[in-house]
Amino acid sequence: MRYDVITLFPDIIKDYCSYSIMKRGAEKGIISVNTVNPRDFTHDKHRHVDDTPYGGSSGMVLMAPPVFEAYESIERLENSEFIMLTPQGEPYNQKIAKELSAKEQLILLCGRYEGFDERIRLGLKPREISLGDYVLTGGELGALCIMDSVSRHLEGFLNKEESLLNDSFSDELEGRLEHPQYTRPQEYRGMKVPEVLLNGNHAEIAKFRKEQQILRTKIRRPDLIND
Ligand code: SAM
Repeated sequence: MRYDVITLFPDIIKDYCSYSIMKRGAEKGIISVNTVNPRDFTHDKHRHVDDTPYGGSSGMVLMAPPVFEAYESIERLENSEFIMLTPQGEPYNQKIAKELSAKEQLILLCGRYEGFDERIRLGLKPREISLGDYVLTGGELGALCIMDSVSRHLEGFLNKEESLLNDSFSDELEGRLEHPQYTRPQEYRGMKVPEVLLNGNHAEIAKFRKEQQILRTKIRRPDLIND
């Protein structure tokens, strides 16, 4: 999977990807992360990437020319998707993460300031994705959320012990939330690990976990239950 991130703050992307599992994924050659800065595609002395909105109002808007040129500088692979991070897009979820993991390239466009000149949407026709109904300062956190969650689906990205098989929302859990997890010690501050997890009876453990998944999902996220 190749990630090309169009951003005015490439260090945010590079920094996150230089830690932990993302770093290891890059070292193993499972992912590669490239950044393209629209500021490198400006033609004025002050390298402006934003300007005031026509019609007036507060804030600045990302200009179309540097974003178009930054996008056009990226080599597009055959099986790629171009994504704009915007609070106005389709809400992101695990299903989309899995779907995107089948691509060989994701181009992620991060906004800043008051957002994009509308002609970026109209001319480049990205798939618009939102991280949720709140407004962030920039698209970088959204791009990283997508990169991280998509990478988890790539073969060899996670170690066996980091498996995503039991993750919340997974097909294996039929979209439910994960059951509660416990590790040593067996008792801590009067709170005991449920007896059923200690008896080694795999059928009983599986039954307990499934019941807990259903209960949790009903209480916390009834919208996820398919009757
Ligand atoms: N004025 C814009 C609007 O109301 O749609 C929001 C601009 S926001 C301050 C700046 C940038 O942060 C956006 O262009 C987008 O790239 C990113 N952003 C903010 N909230 C986001 C969200 N919920 N999901 C994805 N990206 C978001």
